[in-house]
Amino acid sequence: MLNGTFDHQGEIADFTLPTGCPLCGGELAVRMTPGTSYSYCGHCHWLSRSHVAVERNSVRVGHPPGGLV
Ligand SMILES: [Zn+2]
Repeated sequence: MLNGTFDHQGEIADFTLPTGCPLCGGELAVRMTPGTSYSYCGHCHWLSRSHVAVERNSVRVGHPPGGLV
């Protein structure tokens, strides 16, 4: 489970998780749209679909097995 700051910008939300990359532990950039969300690590260039659950003061990001979709 990872926590990050969350900033709404209309229906699309972008945020970063400072150590969110499950592969290298680097900064993970997450883009969340109404239907989908993606995670991208600028350090190791890992890209994956992610499941994002927004809570009151935090965001939980999960990555289903299978990697790239
Ligand atoms: Zn990485």
